[in-house]
Amino acid sequence: MEVSSNQFKQAASRKLADPKVQKALRIAKGKLVVARSRSILELDNFEEIREAAARIRDFGLQHMDLLLEEWEKKAKAAGTIVHWAETPQQVNELVIEIARKHEVRKIIKSKSMLGEETNLNHALEAAGLDVRETDLGEYIIQQFGETPSHIIAPAVHKSKDDIADLFAEKHGRPRLNDIAALTHEAREVLRPHFLNADMGISGANFLVAETGSTMIVTNEGNGRMTTTMPRVHVAITGIEKIVPTLEDISLLLRVLTRSATGQSISNYLSFTTGPKRPGDTDGPGEFHVIIVDAGRTKVLASEIREALRCIRCGACMNHCPVYQNIGGHAYGWVYPGPIGSILTPAYVGIENAIDLPNASTLCNQCGVVCPVKIPLPDLMRKLREQQVQKNLRPWSERVGLRLWAWTAARPAIYGVLTRIAARIGKWLGGRDRLLHKLPAAGSEWTSGRDFPAPRGKTFRELYARNRNRRTR
Ligand code: SF4
Repeated sequence: MEVSSNQFKQAASRKLADPKVQKALRIAKGKLVVARSRSILELDNFEEIREAAARIRDFGLQHMDLLLEEWEKKAKAAGTIVHWAETPQQVNELVIEIARKHEVRKIIKSKSMLGEETNLNHALEAAGLDVRETDLGEYIIQQFGETPSHIIAPAVHKSKDDIADLFAEKHGRPRLNDIAALTHEAREVLRPHFLNADMGISGANFLVAETGSTMIVTNEGNGRMTTTMPRVHVAITGIEKIVPTLEDISLLLRVLTRSATGQSISNYLSFTTGPKRPGDTDGPGEFHVIIVDAGRTKVLASEIREALRCIRCGACMNHCPVYQNIGGHAYGWVYPGPIGSILTPAYVGIENAIDLPNASTLCNQCGVVCPVKIPLPDLMRKLREQQVQKNLRPWSERVGLRLWAWTAARPAIYGVLTRIAARIGKWLGGRDRLLHKLPAAGSEWTSGRDFPAPRGKTFRELYARNRNRRTR
């Protein structure tokens, strides 16, 4: 997926002014939040499970090298062909090479965020291959020619009417208006693709070191068919997805599905350990797994490594007041919302996503709901510090901050200047006590709201007056 994160402000303004997006976000808003909060009440020790989930993810990150070696040994023993890719381009090249070797024409795909990172569909189509997304949300946005706007609900920005119009046009059938009927139609249209595809591609929610398996969590059954029906299967996954044991997986699932959709458990959990064996009724004849770095080791070695604990549940974006008002496309790359505001600058370079760490009110809703306790606001703050250290913020902001730091370090000058500013501010605020336009860097603040005018006295003046009164 192309990176357009540096257009965040313009894109956010467009989304705020788009009545269709606003309507779709209004309808979706809160549904997943309510479902999550209901489902965690089923557990009386959700916080303990959350702590344990964070520890498992940390352990995986700390011992990633040894665990990946163990996973590779077990996977190869089961017949899996293991590849390692350092860059997104290498991932696409490997998949195309495997497809060519097996004379593949049609590919079915189960959802893969890493595939979005590498722009895999585009690369496969450019190589002359027919690629079909099979996850309903992904299928819808592929038909629209768009990219996902949420990591678990990729078509959340589309309304039922949009989808009804799309299906009538693309499927050449009478327009349906009922969600169940539309879903049924998508199933009917996709079924022949499952039956005649040569290759399946999926991501992996986790890699299990103990068994050498890949594992995916789905609700629609499409993942299960993608991994078992075509003669060749390729799973692509990041190095950070490694987890030591099956028992760890069972614990992570308790927080993953509840945080994502409010379900106690998802409809399908598919573990793949090697290709089809003699006597198996289904499964691919050849099973490839591509383990991908694509910037992850760089993040692992940095001060924001905790972001790699992410298990892609989407809870942080569902609870984020910024995401809820602008949707996912404004973030300009694969991962939206609070985790996107950290992962995008980390993967594509902070200079290419300059506003994302600032796209947050730092209300900490995201940190409170994250099932693996990623301190999202702290990590955004660290990225903001990096922006300042690298001189990436606009000159007006930099000069303003330097001036403020200089005066704040000189109490006498600070006192005089703030006294003057408080009096001028009060005068400018007028009768409604609001400033409608601030100068320089403050102008962005007042472009969307008013600034409460100072009341004429500084805090220090009021403090001194009250102290004098008390001592009298
Ligand atoms: S950062 Fe936490 S809440 Fe957000 S998607 Fe990842 S695991 Fe879920």
